[in-house]
Amino acid sequence: MKVTKAEIVISAVKPEQYPNDPWPHFALAGRSNVGKSSFINKMLNRKNLARTSSKPGKTQTLNFYNINDIFYFVDVPGYGFAKVSKKDREAWGKMIETYLTTSENLRAVIQIVDIRHKPTEDDKLMYNFCKHYEMPVIIIATKADKIPKGKWDKHLKVIKETLNIDPNDPVVTFSSETGKGKDEAWSIIQRYM
Ligand code: GDP
Repeated sequence: MKVTKAEIVISAVKPEQYPNDPWPHFALAGRSNVGKSSFINKMLNRKNLARTSSKPGKTQTLNFYNINDIFYFVDVPGYGFAKVSKKDREAWGKMIETYLTTSENLRAVIQIVDIRHKPTEDDKLMYNFCKHYEMPVIIIATKADKIPKGKWDKHLKVIKETLNIDPNDPVVTFSSETGKGKDEAWSIIQRYM
């Protein structure tokens, strides 16, 4: 995918604000600090389009990025912050649920996990939540540059088993540092358009 245009069109807090054209949506989800912004920036060849490491307590919005005037990346606020209040956690859940259940254009959720670590309970909740709504999930196992190549398969196995991944859901070994997995991720995303 040659990205010639990538710009934020809206930070939506409610469904009325979602873009209402027929372009496909791909939502990006992941634990805070997992490397989601770095993934988005790498995929779009931008340095700072998605703000890295957004802190909790800020207004939680769905950020819609127009890519090449043909589809959207929808950046979902990071989850799994220990210090988030019950109220904020509920608001987050409600926002995601509303989006998953009302967006007719959502084609797949791109869920970012850290290849080094066993997925957390929050990662499992997020994955199962998508499966509950029969949404395809593309798993991106990022920060691959942080472990030796020879260990990738062992770590991928833990991720697949822990999340109990549907065999139809692709898992991509990725690194925002080296660009590993970028072409594969684009070709998979294009399959869902
Ligand atoms: P976010 O909170 O999920 O958006 O996470 P960020 O994209 O801000 O990344 C969190 C930290 O991990 C930052 O210090 C990044 O530089 C670092 N990081 C993200 N992806 C990678 C990667 O693929 N490799 C390495 N080595 N570091 C990464």
